[in-house]
Amino acid sequence: CGIVGYVGKQSAQDVVIEGLRRLEYRGYDSAGVALVADGEIASAKKAGKLANLEAELAANPLPESDTGIGHTRWATHGGPTDVNAHPHLSASGRVALVHNGIIENFAALKAELEAAGVVLKSETDTEVVAQLLGIEVDGGADVAEALRTICRRLEGAFTLVAVDAQQPGRVVAARRNSPLVVGVGEGENFIGSDVAAFIEHTREAVELGQDQMVEITADAWTVTDFDGNPAEVRPYHVDWDLSA
Ligand code: GLU
Repeated sequence: CGIVGYVGKQSAQDVVIEGLRRLEYRGYDSAGVALVADGEIASAKKAGKLANLEAELAANPLPESDTGIGHTRWATHGGPTDVNAHPHLSASGRVALVHNGIIENFAALKAELEAAGVVLKSETDTEVVAQLLGIEVDGGADVAEALRTICRRLEGAFTLVAVDAQQPGRVVAARRNSPLVVGVGEGENFIGSDVAAFIEHTREAVELGQDQMVEITADAWTVTDFDGNPAEVRPYHVDWDLSA
């Protein structure tokens, strides 16, 4: 439902939680965050309000990180439980993923994963994407290339945002039939399901087109199509009144 991604000079956890709060108006039933720290994914997720996630983070703090993703979920596949909340991790724990939308062909992909011996932890359509991505990355693919490969196989509506534990300082995202916006900062970059996710930090935005993906680091953002070709994008300035 609501998505935030961040790489930069601030605490990724703080920026992500703040962004999720800005997206609360959309309604949601669970919330979660994943950070890249010390070559690992550190994550927390809770059913219920953002306050539940914040209480969990206060009780069990995650390490400092400059790279993070977050999600507020509006359940479509699987009830609103802690386990079904996003982010979803790959079996090896190396990749974390959040998703807005619905993967229409998830049952076929799930059957394929189960046949390959992958044990799914949740009832979501989203976890199949996390597991497929994990298999690609564990097999040596770059996470952006892996996401591109998987997106070509997906049907339905998705905004996907992922991090690879072995690629600190990098967040990748892709979209089809669901919105995705990049916020361009100085020494920091943002991803949001809408500009409200980062408008406190930057008003320079880039809206992704259909079947496009983006890769952000603290200093750069690169948009391509699902075949890896550079894509045309139109940066714009958000001139909303923040109090509105
Ligand atoms: N279909 C996914 C789920 O149920 C994502 C829902 C959303 O857009 O929040 O977990």
